[in-house]
Amino acid sequence: MESFSAVNRQQYLEQMSHADLDVLIIGGGITGAGILLDAVSRGLRAGLVDMQDFAAGTSSRSTKLIHGGLRYLKQLEFRLVAEVGKERAIVARNAPHITKPEPMILPIYKQGSLGYTSASIALAVYDFLAGVKKSERRKMLSKEEVLKLEPGLKSQGLKGGAYYYEYRTDDARLTIEILKKATELGAIACNYAKVEDILKTERVVSGVRVREVTNNSYYNIPARYVVNATGPWVDAIDKLDDALSEEKLVHTKGVHIVLDRARLPIKHSLYFDTPDGRMVFAIPRQGKVYAGTTDTFYSGNLENPMANKVDRDYILNSLNQIFPDAKLTFEDVESWWAGLRPLIKQKGKSASGISRKDELFETSSGLITIAGGKLTGYRKMAQRVVDLIVKKIRAVKTTGPCITDQIRLSGAVGEDVNYDEFYKNKLEEFQSIGLSEAASSQLLDRYGSNVDKIISIWKEGDQSEASLDKAQWIYCIENEMTLYPDDFLTRRTGETYFNIEKALKYRDTITNFYSKYFHWDDELEQNVVAQTHNKINQVTSIK
Ligand code: FAD
Repeated sequence: MESFSAVNRQQYLEQMSHADLDVLIIGGGITGAGILLDAVSRGLRAGLVDMQDFAAGTSSRSTKLIHGGLRYLKQLEFRLVAEVGKERAIVARNAPHITKPEPMILPIYKQGSLGYTSASIALAVYDFLAGVKKSERRKMLSKEEVLKLEPGLKSQGLKGGAYYYEYRTDDARLTIEILKKATELGAIACNYAKVEDILKTERVVSGVRVREVTNNSYYNIPARYVVNATGPWVDAIDKLDDALSEEKLVHTKGVHIVLDRARLPIKHSLYFDTPDGRMVFAIPRQGKVYAGTTDTFYSGNLENPMANKVDRDYILNSLNQIFPDAKLTFEDVESWWAGLRPLIKQKGKSASGISRKDELFETSSGLITIAGGKLTGYRKMAQRVVDLIVKKIRAVKTTGPCITDQIRLSGAVGEDVNYDEFYKNKLEEFQSIGLSEAASSQLLDRYGSNVDKIISIWKEGDQSEASLDKAQWIYCIENEMTLYPDDFLTRRTGETYFNIEKALKYRDTITNFYSKYFHWDDELEQNVVAQTHNKINQVTSIK
């Protein structure tokens, strides 16, 4: 039986309810996924549930960078900078298909928040703290050098710039690849399964009660330890444990907008000052550029935060200020996403001034909660949680050390294989069977070494390039627990954001395919059609 297939979801829940789990994790974003992999790789029996699709929370709505956090240096958070900086190299080694070095340009202007000398020193400290390899250390650039690299930048007031490296990733795919690896190693995970109650035995947490949200069936899942890794929802789960628990989080909203690259033809990623003294990114990707983010306090609906005109105009103004000839307007915005930062409360701080550090809490009944943190630091956060569990469980169970720094995620290649060579060979192989370079590299960048499985599904069909889509739909249902078209379009491929034309074109074909595959009745099919349309309509307009 496949270990991560949408077809087997009920069985996974059934299994979890009889598995005598050591640990059950609530939340299948990057934090929960990381904990699941760490736990199972140390020999713990581990399970995970998410009430939505995996990564449907903040973990598909970030800036998609594995970064050392230059901004944290500004806040003097040296430990955080050092830890997440070093993690970049580990994530890139363990998931080379989805995490790649990304050269960044930091233009420095006369009235900007960073001076030329202070930027040079800050980046040198950053290189040192993060142990950055020589080829990726920062270089300072003259004004002419900056303009040669990015001719569209405003030249007035430009003093020069810095050229340094961050790592670009796909947040949702990274989460999925971690979950796939964890389930390959024996963990059990299920999406669309909501924790509605915390079970207790003699006032000690002993499991969770879960509702399978597609058919409203209930499962009691006993577990020695329960971890609350629900990001923005952490307080809601804590309230299930203790209705009087104090709220730990404050939420801030971050919006990104997507433009066609023809309207902003930048060659590099940029990190630059905004008129109000913050900094935003502009990052080229797949023929588009995405830019963001905003950072404003938020208190609305957690599942579906929306971008508004103020968010949109803030980012457009920031871009127009630095690319004066681009003259971008709201009509250039093709799509957008908004995410919520789950930040630990700090009285008196502005939205962007609050620390991004993670913290571990444990209640008197034994619920373990991890809150705050970054995509980049997910492995270390997981290590801290599992270290705590291992300490508690030691009397009854022998476990191994944390080895996640050595675990290649699903889609990676073995230690002895050079990824670039693997990539080159695969491109050649795929071209020899009639696939274009563009289609082949897109497949490799999405699925890494799992591409062979997609190709073997594709070979069962008419072997046209168009039928590669269908092969991916099937692969993702059977190997990435994709239950609805939006799971595929938004989180398995990012097409909702980066290929909106295609998403619009085939949203009904894909829904029809899913309906047949899962034997939906007419009513369900119509509901899903409406949901898929609604989602795509939402991200193509800002009210
Ligand atoms: P989430 O991804 O939100 O996962 C929590 C999960 O819990 C959700 O999937 C939810 O459905 C589930 N859940 C909630 N309640 C229940 C329940 N009752 N039962 C079952 N499941 C439940 N970090 C970086 O390192 N690099 C960046 O470039 C970066 N950019 C960012 C930009 C923005 C705009 C934002 C908002 C954040 C950014 N971050 C970045 C931070 C990073 O994205 C987050 O720290 C991280 O994604 C949080 O992951 P999580 O797993 O804790 O939360």
